[in-house]
Amino acid sequence: MSDKRVRVRFAPSPTGPLHMGGVRTALYNYLFAKKHGGDFLLRIEDTDQGRFVPGAEEYILEALRWCGIEPNEGVGYGGPHAPYRQSERKPMYRQYAEELVAKGWAYYAFDSSEELDHIRKQAELAKMPNWQYNSISRNTMKNSLTLPADEVAQRISNGEAYVIRFKMPRNEEVRFHDIIRGWVVFNTNELDDKVLFKSDGMPTYHLANIVDDHTMEITHVIRGEEWLPSAPLHVMMYKAFEWEAPQFAHLPLILKPDGNGKLSKRDGDRLGFPVFPLNWSDPTTGEQSSGYRERGYFPKAFVNMLLLLGWAPSNNQEIFTEQEMIEAFTIERIGKSGSKFDPEKTKWFNQQYLRAKSNEELADLILPLAQEKGWNVTKEYAAGVCALMKERAIFIQDLLDGPFLFEAPKEFDRDAVSKKWKPSESAALMAEWSERLSSIQDFKSDVIEQAFKDFITEKSLGMGAVMPLFRLCLTGVLTGPASSEVAALIGREESQSRINSAISKLG
Ligand code: GLU
Repeated sequence: MSDKRVRVRFAPSPTGPLHMGGVRTALYNYLFAKKHGGDFLLRIEDTDQGRFVPGAEEYILEALRWCGIEPNEGVGYGGPHAPYRQSERKPMYRQYAEELVAKGWAYYAFDSSEELDHIRKQAELAKMPNWQYNSISRNTMKNSLTLPADEVAQRISNGEAYVIRFKMPRNEEVRFHDIIRGWVVFNTNELDDKVLFKSDGMPTYHLANIVDDHTMEITHVIRGEEWLPSAPLHVMMYKAFEWEAPQFAHLPLILKPDGNGKLSKRDGDRLGFPVFPLNWSDPTTGEQSSGYRERGYFPKAFVNMLLLLGWAPSNNQEIFTEQEMIEAFTIERIGKSGSKFDPEKTKWFNQQYLRAKSNEELADLILPLAQEKGWNVTKEYAAGVCALMKERAIFIQDLLDGPFLFEAPKEFDRDAVSKKWKPSESAALMAEWSERLSSIQDFKSDVIEQAFKDFITEKSLGMGAVMPLFRLCLTGVLTGPASSEVAALIGREESQSRINSAISKLG
């Protein structure tokens, strides 16, 4: 790698919410910049005003912030190349398009969209679909290559609408090196004369993208595979401007879980999992899509999952701190083929991050949720709840799955009652056990457990017959943490009161 300071950018168009594939692109750029002590820029590519979606830019910024993938330069962050929103850079692009015209690498084209439509239709009728404005057809079109110079000047001074097109050379073989894919070779005959500058005074994506990457001193372009077909044009444009091209790395696609096709924005929640980092409500259709944040994912777990969706470390490590990600990341270890998204593995990552937190940290997270449900407990108590629920939980919300840890059961699982509870016999047994609880000195789960064992041995009864009764009295159900643990958490008095109220309800 050259000794130039590494500068990479994430350059989304604000045409909707950021897809998780976009977040992954941002992540890889971020890690690469951090690894090389470089800069990570956020540029908003909004030259296509027709596709602008209100709220999309704010969404992108918020999503990156939530994920902890923060640019150090760009929209929302400022920097030496401001503005970073292309619509605000509008006045600077024309001169670059004109420069290419002056150098013989571009030309003015006056063909109206009606004329172009007509030609395309004619071509279709003649069974020649996909007509292109290219190195052959341009010779019969209305442009500054075919019209006399004075007529061109006249048309322009008359204010006639025109676009500026790139003059793609005929039959040249061009190659460039992609860090992920190796050498990419193409022939210019496959490429058309793309519009660089539109009649409304706006640059197209191609012009703005190249000019900005150059003027913002971008050294590496790391972006999605869908931009690979544009790369040959971009390489030709660098050549035309006589600028050094950045290095390219085109990331493989993220595929649907069954491997059938790309995981797209349109998949929304259709496949049973979100494709967006945050909730999104479409301003035009009103359609709601859920996000990983609102589903209860930790941003670090989400990002860790994305790291491994296309990139693999040299060992089998799966859980990475941010520092470890930065150290281990290399573009060379990004795979060439698409990666199947695995929603179950995504949950697994969340579970790992949840388990790694202390009960006190988790308590802080569940306290507000508990309060919303009207359960006001101390942090110490909440930490006790977390200790009991942690092993079974994937999401923070799961830690509250045992409402019985906060309030006495209002109902009892009928099935369980009819199978396990023998009227009067069970009641008498539990009444005795409740009394026995008073004699336990140190009301801790292991002591309670031992006392319970002694109690049933004394009675010559089996664990399987009596344990469910105790559990039912405390929780109303037969699942969840061990009864002795529940009893220790809720305390002696509460345990006794629950047993007694169960006795009076179940008889
Ligand atoms: N504006 C393009 C996008 O929306 C950026 C492509 C690129 O990174 O060059 O993805």
